[in-house]
Amino acid sequence: MSAPVTTRFAPSPTGRLHLGNARTALFNWLYARARGGRFVLRIEDTDAARSTAAHEAGLRADLEWLGLDWDAGPGREDAAGPYRQSERADRYAAGFDALVRAGRAYPCWCTAEELELSRRAQLSAGRAPRYVGTCAHLDADAQRARAIAGGAPSLRFRVPATGDVTFDDLVRGPQRFSSAELGDFVVRRADGSAAFLYSNVVDDAAMGVTHALRGEDHVSNTPRQILVAEALGLRAPQYGHLPLLVGPDGAPLSKRHGSDSVADVRAAGYLPDAVLNLLCRLGHRYPTDGWLDAASRVAGFDVAALGHAPSQFDPAQLRHWQKEAVQRADVPTLAAWAPHAVPRAEREAFVAAVRANLVLPADAADWAHVVYGDLPCADGVARDAIVAAGSAFFDAALGAAAGIPDDARLDYATLVAALRERTGRKGRELFQPLRAALTHRLDGPELAALLGLLPAARVRERFTRARETAG
Ligand code: GLU
Repeated sequence: MSAPVTTRFAPSPTGRLHLGNARTALFNWLYARARGGRFVLRIEDTDAARSTAAHEAGLRADLEWLGLDWDAGPGREDAAGPYRQSERADRYAAGFDALVRAGRAYPCWCTAEELELSRRAQLSAGRAPRYVGTCAHLDADAQRARAIAGGAPSLRFRVPATGDVTFDDLVRGPQRFSSAELGDFVVRRADGSAAFLYSNVVDDAAMGVTHALRGEDHVSNTPRQILVAEALGLRAPQYGHLPLLVGPDGAPLSKRHGSDSVADVRAAGYLPDAVLNLLCRLGHRYPTDGWLDAASRVAGFDVAALGHAPSQFDPAQLRHWQKEAVQRADVPTLAAWAPHAVPRAEREAFVAAVRANLVLPADAADWAHVVYGDLPCADGVARDAIVAAGSAFFDAALGAAAGIPDDARLDYATLVAALRERTGRKGRELFQPLRAALTHRLDGPELAALLGLLPAARVRERFTRARETAG
């Protein structure tokens, strides 16, 4: 029986969770969930200078907010852990020794300056830069001499001089790299820490990762990682490289395109379901273009439906999915958008009345102000509509609203019928000034629903003010 699908997300905690990386996490999570497999979170914090606990906490909070729960990882340790690379140094040691003993890795004393000089020389000669092999064939005496001369060596992987490395990319199909092009690479830095090309593959094997979807910036790392896995007798996962996420202008996604991190879109008030509906289609085709609930996002996910073309992030699409998400959000979520103004007992009715007019939290706060706030004098187009209706219209409105106890609510149909009878107006001629007087706007939620929230005293107050405005 083949191993159960295990996918992983392996972020470096060196910054905020970018939407592109969130999509990578999502696709790995969806794949695991669609196949009844496991999803692992591994923190790749070997870059001690740039990794911080705060970034890790932010990453984890963002994944949790998106609902991308991990079966193993920080906070969910199991026998394959720990899940922070900074805590796995002892797991890396044996492999280094094995590579050296097998002649697959050698110590390298080249300094950063020497490497940079060599790189530049190759570039100016029109060649693709790679390690030229200065330390690749030092005999034991020469190695001793270098060691005495000073400096701790890094450990470099010896790439076979000939042959090809091939793999079948889950997204891009068959790939072939010539070993001669790869150049020997560092697996252990001079400070003793494991380098990415090594720790990533050792951990994938130790954690039972079978499939790794990641950004296409890693394609050229893959042949190197496959060589490391082979040399260590490990099984590398099947890799799939996802196309870059770009903004509407085709440039890599950045702040210039509005929000570029999960923290940004969250702070702006977007709902996780909106973000997920957007991300799950960036580079992946679902059978339908419509709203996908959590179960359909999982059920419809298929690696065969991953595309190669760069995927575009369009803020307008995010807004579209947000509107859809708002129509499906629960009352507490939307009520929390206008926490103070709306009396607790009226939250449900308020949300029902304004839901269709909400996109972001500020919209709820706005409508809460319209309903519960003290509206000053109408201005702009609302004022024009009130003036055009004339004070007689609001006299009639006050008459129609008379006799109802202050705290009671007016019945919309009764009010409209009485107003129609008293003014002889109907349609827009009637509804527009009525709306303008009650909300100081010309569009918005159904008036019937709003009237259910406005006590008769407040309705009369607003008619009185409109009558003054109309002069
Ligand atoms: N830490 C690497 C990154 O953030 C992980 C790459 C991978 O998924 O293999 O790019």
